[in-house]
Amino acid sequence: MPGREEYWNIGYPLLGALVYIVMVIAIVSIAYGLYRRYRFWRLGQPMPDLGPWRPRIRRFLALASVDILLHRRFLKKDLYPGLMHFFIFWGTVVLLIATTVAALEHNLHEYLHITLFTTSYKLQLSLVWDIGGGLLLAVGLLMALYRRYVIRPPRLNTLFEDPIILALILALVITGFVVEGLRMGATELNPASEMYSVSNARWSPVGFLFAKLFSGVGMSPSAMEITHKAMWWTHSALVALAFLYGALTFNKLTHIIVGPMNAFFRSDRPKGALRPMPDLETRESFGARDIGDFTWKQLLDFDACTNCGRCQDQCPAWASDKPLSPRKLIQVLKGYMEQRAPVLVSLKNGEKPPEPETPMVKDVGEEVLWSCTTCRACMEVCPVFIEHIDSIVDMRRYLVMEEAKMPETVENALQSLEARGHPLRGTQVTRIDWAKGLGIKTMAEDSNVDILFWVGCTAALEDRSQKMARAMASVLKLAGINFAILGMEETCTGDPARRMGNEYLFQMMAMQTIETLNRYNVKKIVTVCPHCLNTLKNEYPQLGGNYQVVHYTQFVNELIRQGRIKPTKAIETTMAYHDSCYLGRHNGIFDDPREIARAIPGIKVVEMARSRERSFCCGAGGGRMWMDETGTRINALRAQQFLDTGADTLCVSCPFCVQQLEEGVRSKGASETRKVRDLLEILVESATPEGPAKS
Ligand code: SF4
Ligand code: SF4
Repeated sequence: MPGREEYWNIGYPLLGALVYIVMVIAIVSIAYGLYRRYRFWRLGQPMPDLGPWRPRIRRFLALASVDILLHRRFLKKDLYPGLMHFFIFWGTVVLLIATTVAALEHNLHEYLHITLFTTSYKLQLSLVWDIGGGLLLAVGLLMALYRRYVIRPPRLNTLFEDPIILALILALVITGFVVEGLRMGATELNPASEMYSVSNARWSPVGFLFAKLFSGVGMSPSAMEITHKAMWWTHSALVALAFLYGALTFNKLTHIIVGPMNAFFRSDRPKGALRPMPDLETRESFGARDIGDFTWKQLLDFDACTNCGRCQDQCPAWASDKPLSPRKLIQVLKGYMEQRAPVLVSLKNGEKPPEPETPMVKDVGEEVLWSCTTCRACMEVCPVFIEHIDSIVDMRRYLVMEEAKMPETVENALQSLEARGHPLRGTQVTRIDWAKGLGIKTMAEDSNVDILFWVGCTAALEDRSQKMARAMASVLKLAGINFAILGMEETCTGDPARRMGNEYLFQMMAMQTIETLNRYNVKKIVTVCPHCLNTLKNEYPQLGGNYQVVHYTQFVNELIRQGRIKPTKAIETTMAYHDSCYLGRHNGIFDDPREIARAIPGIKVVEMARSRERSFCCGAGGGRMWMDETGTRINALRAQQFLDTGADTLCVSCPFCVQQLEEGVRSKGASETRKVRDLLEILVESATPEGPAKS
């Protein structure tokens, strides 16, 4: 460009060839680092649920445009760190483009006499590189430093590498501006230079400020010229160092590559479905004992983690002082992989791997594994789409199916499931006691019905939850729906067995139920329990059971829309709605319950600070309903979040949540003034003039 010379003062092309050596070092470093890691990932099992490529590519491109380029996922969930990452990401991208374009433009012009850009266009571009590249990156880095060392949010865990990485990138940005300022001071702002042009210099405002600073402290143009050369090479050496450091340590910077890879390869299963364990009868091992028992995608997960702590911030187990932090869990597994994989990679064909110094589950901690409620809050916020629940359940499977090691309460629940077909020990009632006197038919009596009402163990057998079963029957009758129940033929879907790690028991129970459902030629099922919904809808297809399964909130909302249910009696209450994890996050049902609530006259709906995708677990999922809980109780934390809204009714759509949250509100001494009710109970009160059906 007239008035501005690319690669000025560095001895281009002879010395400038070193630039390309730096680039080669960078590319080879990245390729080598990835190859080393690839050998680790290859130790994993095949990924059975990868699905077809075309929709995967389409989905990834859609995600890349909004979640990577626009940072929607980051910005929506956390503004400050979202903006910070946005600035760092775009600053880096713009600088990489700027460097590549400058090299290309210069060489094309120099050796092929091709001019890519006019002078004025180049000046405009230099403004973009200056502001949208260097300055943006510098602001992002300063925000990162301020957050990590001044704000210090509890979720941040500073590793040894963090200050090194931040310092390295900051040094790159600063030396870049210093080089630019020195060049301008010696040329565009030097009246003795043939490149003198103040108007050109103004197109790079940050470099201009640096140039002013150098002349302000008395640096002569010739001193600037000498310093420029030294700083230019310092800057280039730092670039090579940054890439080398990334490749050798595979630090968090590598998430630039591994993060998008992990997003691309994420599972195609429905959100709520656990990965099935095939060939149970013939397989020799169960669950994850060593890193080679995970799939390669799970090993990729461990490398994709940026240690950002978003998952930990959302985890109910961590919030209630349990030993589980999903961030730490993934980091421990990453560490375990780094220690164990080189040993496994070096084995010759057929050579037996030596026993690890510490078994993996011991490194992770058994109590850590049993603390998870499988609520999915961690996965919902993870910016690189890590699938924590799979790894936790795989290790539970190893403990239960290989080692027979589990808390006594888990053992009791599993025994009850096996012996009685439900996990509730000590119950005296039968599955049809709740329906006595209501004139509800069973499928055995008449299977020519429109829907099967799947009652579920808790609503059928637990005293408080039976109200829900009766309320559901009332609503169905009111709308004139031809329905039946399985009655004594209904057993647990197997959800707790699967989540507690006993895949064998789950598959046995599921196959038995599928056989019953198929015998009655069941097409459509309505559940009151979100856990039953999830297992019947998302997991039974893995075993050949395909039915149209809906939750009552979806079914009843449709009945209200059609005018077949008319809530008329005003229920004067301010209501906060609690999104059950298995209805909301796992199955995306957020709006139906709120629409039902709004259809009931008199109800004012308020939202808790954590609602919808960010809802806070009641503490019962993942089999935790049947395990002892020590220390701070998750339901008490959720009850407090409800009390903070000032609402008088906590409304839910799940029998587990009703029990858990009633106990939580009681523990806060507020059960006299604040009520926990299922939405069905309120709807029946409003829609049936004679009141809910009674046994
Ligand atoms: S699923 Fe829920 S309880 Fe389990 S680690 Fe994730 S956030 Fe924590
Ligand atoms: S698992 Fe995901 S959310 Fe958690 S620390 Fe790692 S990258 Fe962040």
